[in-house]
Amino acid sequence: MYPKIEINLRKIKDNGEVLLKLCREKGIEPCAVTKGTCADLEVAKAFVQAGFKELADSRMENIKKLKGYFKDSIKTLLLRIPMVSECEEVVDYCDTSLNSELITIKKLNEVAGRVGKKHKIIIMVDLGDLREGIWPTDLESIQREVENLENIQVVGLGTNLTCYGGIIPSEKNLAQLCDLKRQWELRGGTPLQIISGGNSSSIKMLMEGKIPQGINHLRLGESLLLGRETINREHIPKTHLDTFKIVGEIVELKEKPSVPIGEIGQDAFGNVPTFEDRGIHKRAIVALGRQDIDLNMEPLNKEIEILGGSSDHLLLDVTKLPDLKVGDKVEFLPNYGALLQGMTSPYVQKEYIGKE
Ligand SMILES: *Cc1c(COP(=O)(O)O)cnc(C)c1O
Repeated sequence: MYPKIEINLRKIKDNGEVLLKLCREKGIEPCAVTKGTCADLEVAKAFVQAGFKELADSRMENIKKLKGYFKDSIKTLLLRIPMVSECEEVVDYCDTSLNSELITIKKLNEVAGRVGKKHKIIIMVDLGDLREGIWPTDLESIQREVENLENIQVVGLGTNLTCYGGIIPSEKNLAQLCDLKRQWELRGGTPLQIISGGNSSSIKMLMEGKIPQGINHLRLGESLLLGRETINREHIPKTHLDTFKIVGEIVELKEKPSVPIGEIGQDAFGNVPTFEDRGIHKRAIVALGRQDIDLNMEPLNKEIEILGGSSDHLLLDVTKLPDLKVGDKVEFLPNYGALLQGMTSPYVQKEYIGKE
């Protein structure tokens, strides 16, 4: 059945091993982020086989699935700041959660007390990216408050960069995070075991040997899945870039002009399109559209060019491939957004390769 997404589990495991080695050489124990594949269990198993001890996701549904399958053989980390309304589940299924709001931390404390557990949290600090995290100057007052919460154990500090503001991890902002940990401990706080220095965008610094000493945890999603760091999307040496392939089928193949005929109004998505005149050329329609996937993909065959797409159709210029036929399959490498959407879509079949 098409469209489908081919998931190469052996290559994902290889990527996991390469990144684990890279991190461990620098004293970092990363967790594997599963949200890019909706916490697909086969993919999660490949991470665990590679040696990851902690799996992280932003959604409770996904964490429950992971905990239900792996039980206590792995640790779970909730990435999105919890909703007050989901604190019961967070305490039940997450070994650790990332937090930035005192109200929520107090609720977690109350729930944990009720069920007789101690819940571990990592406090997120905003170092300028302006997504989640408390402001560094507020850390001291938060510390005073959380120290009185009996059922909460603050295990570390963390930060998230390159997400909203596109702020790049640097020696300066990561050193600031390490410094905040020192200050926390100087104020008499219990020693913090974890300094979580970001996501796949920290891999570039890691490869350049620039990550400050104190950083000992990273949360890796895209780099593991797609083999690229996320500052410049550069290939991480020894990893595979073709872990996931989107495969679609050609349903129409004709020679047509490249500029539509008639007066141009809005397209199906409310935009007024513009066209490059490339003369008469060979166009293929693949049965794959925005309802299936984000069309930010790269054709595996470099002779193919994506012209555009709508809800159900993807248009390709295949002039350079005279032998193509209706019914032939075309393969693409997804970017992270396309992967996320493809894995979420009920219209895209999932096929596993290299299952152990
Ligand atoms: C999604 C997410 C990550 C993983 O990011 P990648 O760029 O895929 O490595 C890490 N931390 C948080 C808080 C996230 O939400």
